[in-house]
Amino acid sequence: MAAQREWYEKDYYKVLGVADDAVPKDITKAYRKLARESHPDTHPGDDAAEERFKEISAAYDVLGDEAKRKEYDEVRRLGPMAGGQFGPAGGPGGYNFNVGADGLGDLLGQMFNRGRRGGGSSASAAPQRGADVDARLTLDFADAVRGITTTLHLTSDAQCSTCNGSGAKPGTQPRVCSQCGGRGVIDDNQGFFSFSSPCRGCGGAGVVVDTPCPTCRGSGSERRAREVQARIPAGVADGQKIRLKGRGAPGRNGGPVGDLIVECHVTPHPRFGRHGADLTVRVPITFAEAALGGDIDVPTLDGPQVTLRLKPGTQTGTRHRVRGKGIVTQKTTGDLIVTVDVHVPTELDAQQRAAIEALAAATTVSPRHHDRDAE
Ligand SMILES: [Zn+2]
Ligand SMILES: [Zn+2]
Repeated sequence: MAAQREWYEKDYYKVLGVADDAVPKDITKAYRKLARESHPDTHPGDDAAEERFKEISAAYDVLGDEAKRKEYDEVRRLGPMAGGQFGPAGGPGGYNFNVGADGLGDLLGQMFNRGRRGGGSSASAAPQRGADVDARLTLDFADAVRGITTTLHLTSDAQCSTCNGSGAKPGTQPRVCSQCGGRGVIDDNQGFFSFSSPCRGCGGAGVVVDTPCPTCRGSGSERRAREVQARIPAGVADGQKIRLKGRGAPGRNGGPVGDLIVECHVTPHPRFGRHGADLTVRVPITFAEAALGGDIDVPTLDGPQVTLRLKPGTQTGTRHRVRGKGIVTQKTTGDLIVTVDVHVPTELDAQQRAAIEALAAATTVSPRHHDRDAE
């Protein structure tokens, strides 16, 4: 293995005087010629010649062996990436870089894995946030306007109650993984690089369960019905989603709990509607109230009636704003928008009929006089 440092530093092709892509036959031919020329037997006492002979032998040792030559080429190719970062040359077990086609793929794979790890690889012993859990809640109109604290009934993943999340059958213990010592990752010293990859022995958990819990089959979590107290803020709209922090699925390896996302469905109100923070309501008035003006009572969603003053000559369908009687949240205060509808009686008693006939007789200008002018 010590040879590999030399491999990177020495150009054996140059030593043998052959091209990088020389065929084996030519390499052997070149070696034999050079070896003969510098053989110590023909140069007794010549240290330089001896050194030269050793160099040629070392070069042929590598280039003359097809497998070694392939490895050498790889090291030479990857060499510039390493610079001076080789491990201690010659130390037993110190440097075990072994590059083949597969070795290189592995190396790149691990670089990729390492890049991803920061983003939270699933196969790692790092703390992992629990998943967000979705829930639906149907609210009646008034509760949605006011806000409500309610109990949600959920079925979701929770810590297994049989094994308290360990995944091991009660009475047994998960044991620390012998391959990674509980770290969940294995350091790979690849010479050029030092990588951590998820431990294959434990799948990154750091512990191994020999006898799985019968309830959760070793996963440590189970589907369980649970109740969650949820505070739904005032003014939630139909279809709106409310995020309740820390009420979702439990985290792994000490990671934080996920969120509970509650999709709210608001049932309509028989009388009131909503427009943003404003409430809306329609109120019938008589012809006399519309014509003469006056004070009328209008309902509010959450309290006593309020008085609305109509001007004389109020038209049907006109809208009137009652300040501060809409949806009140911490941020906004909405109004109550009152639409008045002039109510036309469908049945008249004799006295009413006489009064309306008198009104008709006294009416000199038709509301359609513009139409008549246009003819
Ligand atoms: Zn269990
Ligand atoms: Zn392990």
